[in-house]
Amino acid sequence: MADHPKLAPRSTEDIENQMLVDKAECKISVNVVDFYHNNRMVVIETQEINETGKVIYSRFKLHLSLLELHAPVLANFLTQALESVEGTEENPVILPFTTREFTCFLDWIHDREWRPFKIMEESLVDLLRVSSTLKADDGISYAVSGLESLRLPSARMLQLVGDFHHLPEVHCWVGPAVKDLIQRPLGEITNSEAQQIAAAYPTIARTRENIQRLLTQVSQRSFALKLADKDQQEEADLCLTHKECQKAWKSVWRENIGYLLLDFQKPLTYRELLELLQNTDFPKVNPSCKARMLNWLSRKTDYPGMKELVEEAVASIEDIYHVPRRGPAPENPKV
Ligand SMILES: [Zn+2]
Repeated sequence: MADHPKLAPRSTEDIENQMLVDKAECKISVNVVDFYHNNRMVVIETQEINETGKVIYSRFKLHLSLLELHAPVLANFLTQALESVEGTEENPVILPFTTREFTCFLDWIHDREWRPFKIMEESLVDLLRVSSTLKADDGISYAVSGLESLRLPSARMLQLVGDFHHLPEVHCWVGPAVKDLIQRPLGEITNSEAQQIAAAYPTIARTRENIQRLLTQVSQRSFALKLADKDQQEEADLCLTHKECQKAWKSVWRENIGYLLLDFQKPLTYRELLELLQNTDFPKVNPSCKARMLNWLSRKTDYPGMKELVEEAVASIEDIYHVPRRGPAPENPKV
């Protein structure tokens, strides 16, 4: 590379132009002469109606080179438009975005250290909207990971899945959002959240009720201290007072454990239940019987039937938002 004497840049535009040249020379296979060719400038217009009913027109004069990098589908379309004398001052190409949305997309394209793209919910949603219409994959990935990093409330994430269900990148948002929402008492879901999840609300309410019913059953059944597992049953037979163990287990469960599962605001999670059982004194239970019971319970990850309830809720909300079902989990290979 020859050493060029470099003049101090005088304006942002100069700096940006210099950046483009640098970029083209170093990394991108772009013809630098063509890069500055005037016939690669294109004029785009957006049109929208403001609150007072007035039509607002905005014009954007752009060089195709950056669009080729970040929005190749649009760049192709505009190249063809230029050939038919569209995309000029007299005959701009009209794109179906608001000024704010398209400006936001251009802000992302022109993201620079000294003028960074603003990672905010509104700008990321605008970027996602424009990028998905223009099939600009980089913009979609950027907006999706940006929105994930903001840790927005679950109701809002579900609303976004509804808005962008045609993008496979947002489908994985459904599961965590539904799991979070069905854990919360319905009274905690605000009116605006209820509006955001409008179509999914009945499923969430129904699942929440089913979970309460399941926890009521578990609290009454007390995970009786008898074991289905044959080996463990044989071990239990070694306990000469096992009938007493079972009675004592049931009584401590009834007095100290069961009602905690019925707490409407915050029922015990399965993990919390295991911890509680571990730390609860069962005075008349043979310690090895208690240890064996805890060992058996800790091999499960949730209350029996809970996983199915949650999966059913996620699947039916995926249907509501037209998210294609994931294929069945691969079966374990037979040994
Ligand atoms: Zn026992």
